[in-house]
Amino acid sequence: MAQAAATPASGKVVIRNVGLMLSGDIDQPILQADTIVIDDGLITAVGKEADCDISQPNVVIDARATCVCPGLIDSHVHPVFGDWTPRQNQLGWIDSTMNGGVTTMISAGEVHLPGRPKDIVGLKALAITAQRAFDAFRPGGVKVLAGAPVLEKGMVEQDFEDLAKSGVKLLGEVGLGSVKAGEEAHRMVAWARKHGIQSTIHTGGPSIPGSGLIDKDVVLEADADIIGHINGGHTALPLAHVCELCEKSTRGIEIVHNGNERIAIEAARAAIALKCPHRIILGTDGPAGSGVQPLGILRMIALLSSLGGVPAEQAFCFATGNTARMRNLNCGLMEPGRAADFVFMDRAQHTAGRTLLESVQLGDIPGVGMVMIDGIVRCGRSRNTPPATEIPVVL
Ligand SMILES: [Zn+2]
Repeated sequence: MAQAAATPASGKVVIRNVGLMLSGDIDQPILQADTIVIDDGLITAVGKEADCDISQPNVVIDARATCVCPGLIDSHVHPVFGDWTPRQNQLGWIDSTMNGGVTTMISAGEVHLPGRPKDIVGLKALAITAQRAFDAFRPGGVKVLAGAPVLEKGMVEQDFEDLAKSGVKLLGEVGLGSVKAGEEAHRMVAWARKHGIQSTIHTGGPSIPGSGLIDKDVVLEADADIIGHINGGHTALPLAHVCELCEKSTRGIEIVHNGNERIAIEAARAAIALKCPHRIILGTDGPAGSGVQPLGILRMIALLSSLGGVPAEQAFCFATGNTARMRNLNCGLMEPGRAADFVFMDRAQHTAGRTLLESVQLGDIPGVGMVMIDGIVRCGRSRNTPPATEIPVVL
């Protein structure tokens, strides 16, 4: 079920015969390249084989003309500990999600922990413990960036300084705790930002009994770095308010699987109409009441491409390079110096699409043939996607 804490070094890895190289960069989503060279988990070259130093590799992978894309990033998850979630009493959900092409997950708060502490010392201790635990334990090799405290009334600037010094880099969704007023949230978000902690705000109706509505005025006043699930988690704000958020805020526009699908499409359209597609990032908001969706990010890409009219190669950028840039991650883009985290995909067997990108634009999800994290193969043919027509082989 799970693997390895420490990452063993990959050595030199050469990936050749790539049929379609997706870059993760929304300004240039497709690269004219067929080869990737990796050294100890980092990309050292991307280009045509004749232009790359492919000598003396430890591992060679023949991509067999399939697509290689930066590993998908789920911008919004709620992990607890290990590869277990109490939300739907499920084991192995992170490893299962890796089989859906996700190589990095970002916690929006460990809110499902039974008996989650709400006093300030307790919430800080939980955040630090979660950060440490997931840093040292990576189910399926997935990088789970966790330790995201939920804001509660009474927190002072010193608390944010303490958290930052202890290695906490994220806030849990603002609005899930007792801090729900715009002015109070703004003050704490600013303290977090001052100390290098990134913030996300819950947007829309309550997710579970006991949580509350966060409306557009609170989202704008709080000014968190990410407008979390702008399409609701699950219940969305009215469309006009979602458009107003896209227009008046410059922050990240996060669209999630466990939200309102119609508003997901409309939010993407609004961001594109405003000429800021680089602000769109994708999450699942899982595990959730609707379950755990290991293919949630791929399904969002297919949804936005097929019904939202977004070219498939751009939709992949929403879940890779956009998220990496917005959240300062060393992955998500196909360029030297970045982490060698990749998903190998091909058109699913018997899709009506003639190519991978066409199949996604028709609403089918791709078949995953291999997932690599830090230059190490973490799975071959996915146990969760429909079977890929062709899969890469390790030579
Ligand atoms: Zn939420």
